[in-house]
Amino acid sequence: MPNYDVHLLSGIVTYPLAVFIAFMIRDYAGIPFVLSTAAMVIGYALYVLGSDLPDMDHPNALIHRGTKPIVAVAVGSAVFVQSVDSVHLGEPWLNITAAWGIGALAAFVAWFAFTWIMPRHRGIVHSLLFAAVYGLLGYALVEFGLGMSTGEALFVGFAAFSGYTLHLLLDREVSLL
Ligand SMILES: [Zn+2]
Repeated sequence: MPNYDVHLLSGIVTYPLAVFIAFMIRDYAGIPFVLSTAAMVIGYALYVLGSDLPDMDHPNALIHRGTKPIVAVAVGSAVFVQSVDSVHLGEPWLNITAAWGIGALAAFVAWFAFTWIMPRHRGIVHSLLFAAVYGLLGYALVEFGLGMSTGEALFVGFAAFSGYTLHLLLDREVSLL
């Protein structure tokens, strides 16, 4: 079973193949991919990230442990933003500090919940369905988040999907669900 380095290095060195396949799909299947420099650079990042992302479902995997603080901070910050206006204990300094207290508590819970609710290793997270979800997120990031063109977003979505699928291929765990 390939480890962290093997998965990421395989993503790092096979990207030219993904670019080549994208050109072939564009020219022979008529999918309007736009391979601008920006789209290819973002595509590279999501392709390489995707080549290790499925192992997020293993509690000891580096990507799982690396994602956990990001999720915890995101949850804590969101809870702070939601609660800061409804805390009325007294002076602003007290209300803001208390709201961060609530946010930090939520982040603490999220830290453990992230591991608890994660599906079992090589379950649904190791599936083409999740590869498609990841591809869709890449597409949405470029189209709506960065406001780039639809053709560029389609290419980035393809690159993200391909990187994720590469991981499944190396694991020999290619399943629809
Ligand atoms: Zn894996």
